[in-house]
Amino acid sequence: MTTLAHALTEVHRRIEEACRSAGRDPHGVQLLAVSKTFGADAVADALTAGQLAFGENYVQEGCDKIAALRAGCHPRREDIQWHCIGPIQSNKTRLVAEHFDWVHTIDRLKTAQRLSDQRPADRPPLQVCLQVNVDGGANKSGAAPQDILPLARAVAGLPHLVLRGLMSIPEPVEGHAAQVERHRLAKAVFDSVALALQQDPPAGGGHPPRWDTLSLGMSGDLEAAIQAGSTLVRVGTAIFGGRPRAAGTPA
Ligand SMILES: *Cc1c(COP(=O)(O)O)cnc(C)c1O
Repeated sequence: MTTLAHALTEVHRRIEEACRSAGRDPHGVQLLAVSKTFGADAVADALTAGQLAFGENYVQEGCDKIAALRAGCHPRREDIQWHCIGPIQSNKTRLVAEHFDWVHTIDRLKTAQRLSDQRPADRPPLQVCLQVNVDGGANKSGAAPQDILPLARAVAGLPHLVLRGLMSIPEPVEGHAAQVERHRLAKAVFDSVALALQQDPPAGGGHPPRWDTLSLGMSGDLEAAIQAGSTLVRVGTAIFGGRPRAAGTPA
């Protein structure tokens, strides 16, 4: 087994173990492999090891990798699902709409409108999650919890998107219990929006929402996220190894 295949197996084992201790079905948690800063070769290796869903933070880097995989000859290249998990500037929405399958980081209506307008007619609708900022970090991305329901209703009305759920990146804290507590803030927003959409479904316009995805948890806190109810963990380091830290970004 390659190092990467071994690392993937280990992450699956962690997910299963976390599901067991949370009394959850392991099929209810999807693994997104975060390949940012790693090359198309690393994605191809993970694909060979059976991983199909990949997350990218930087739009241009992601698009270059998508193009490289498409131009390659990997037998499973048509099966890859690409998720955009980084902040999206207005001038990048077209690239995202044209090349990605999912977006996790919608925090304002304008971005969602542009993505819907720019989604090519020959592609299935873009699957989107709203990003919530649960701990109020002023310079962090994400809409405030109280703004999520109105945003969800507006996004649900856009014709070329399917509203899938919520994503959050809580401030890192030490210790399992404290991490679970942070993640539960996002889970509470997720549940309240689910209930509101069920009681008062958005009328017409877009595809019916499928509010089934809670994108929570990374290499360091996936157990806590699963304990809190995550349905999708975004894991980079534990699969691909450490990344060189970009200047000016927190560790
Ligand atoms: C980089 C990144 C991840 C993966 O983080 P790791 O700690 O390497 O697992 C997950 N989500 C987002 C939004 C990221 O930017």
